[in-house]
Amino acid sequence: MRKPIIAGNWKMNNTASEGAELVKALKPLVKDAKCEVVVCVPFIDIPAVKKAIHGSKIRLGAQNVHFAEKGAYTGEISAAMLKEYGVQYVIIGHSERRAYFGETDETVNKRTLAALAAGLTPIVCIGESLEEREGGLTEKVLDKQIAADFQGIEDFSKIVIAYEPIWAIGTGRTATDEQANETIGYIRKRMKKVYAGKNVGRMRIQYGGSMNAKNAAGLMAQPEIDGGLIGGASLKAEEFAKVVNYNK
Ligand code: PEP
Repeated sequence: MRKPIIAGNWKMNNTASEGAELVKALKPLVKDAKCEVVVCVPFIDIPAVKKAIHGSKIRLGAQNVHFAEKGAYTGEISAAMLKEYGVQYVIIGHSERRAYFGETDETVNKRTLAALAAGLTPIVCIGESLEEREGGLTEKVLDKQIAADFQGIEDFSKIVIAYEPIWAIGTGRTATDEQANETIGYIRKRMKKVYAGKNVGRMRIQYGGSMNAKNAAGLMAQPEIDGGLIGGASLKAEEFAKVVNYNK
C-alpha cells in the first residue's frame, strides 16, 4: 500500500512568525488526517515552524538542498543542516527552480542523491510545459527526466515524485482527473521498466498544479495518484486542511 501524502509548498511566502501562525491554525484541522501531511517552508522559517508543529501530525519539509556536504557554495543549504533541524522532506527540481535558477536534470539528480544519503525524503518534481503537451511531447519529456533525474537510486520507496505539468502550476488550470491519472500511470510504468528491481512499486507519485479544496477529492480518487503538492492552496490553513481532508 502507498500511503497518500499531501505536501504544501509555501514557496517564498510567510515570514517565520506568519508561518508559525499558519501551522498553529492548521494543527487542529488536520489532527485526524489519514494521509501524511507536510509543509515545505522557507529555510528561515524552519525553527519557528518546527516548534509550532510539535505534537502534531504535520511534518517539516524544505524547498531545496545542495548536493555538497559543505564548502564554498554561498547561499546554499546542506542536507545535514536540514536534517539537524528535524526536516524530513525536501522538494527538489521544482519547475520554478529549473526555470529561474538554472536547475538541470544533472543537478536535480545530484541533489536527490545527497538528500537520500542524509536520510531526507526527496520530493522530486517532473513535468512538461504547455508547448510540449500540445506538441504531443509529454511522454518524451518525462522519459528524459526519468532517465536523468533518478540515476543511482537503489530504493525508490524512499522517494516521492511530484508530477507537475508546468502549465497547471499557479495558473488555476488544473489537469483533469483523467489526464493526471493517465500521466502518473505512465510515469510509474516507465519507472518500473527503467529502474526494475528497485522498489518502484512502493514509490509514491503526487499530482501538483492548482490542486485545491474543490478539486482534491476528484484527483485523489484516481488510482494512480498518491497525493498532492500544493502551492497557492497551502497558504491558508482552512483551504489546505480541506485538501488534506479530501476523503471526508
Ligand atoms: C507548486 O508550486 O508545486 C504548485 C503546484 O503550485 P500551485 O498549487 O499554486 O499550482
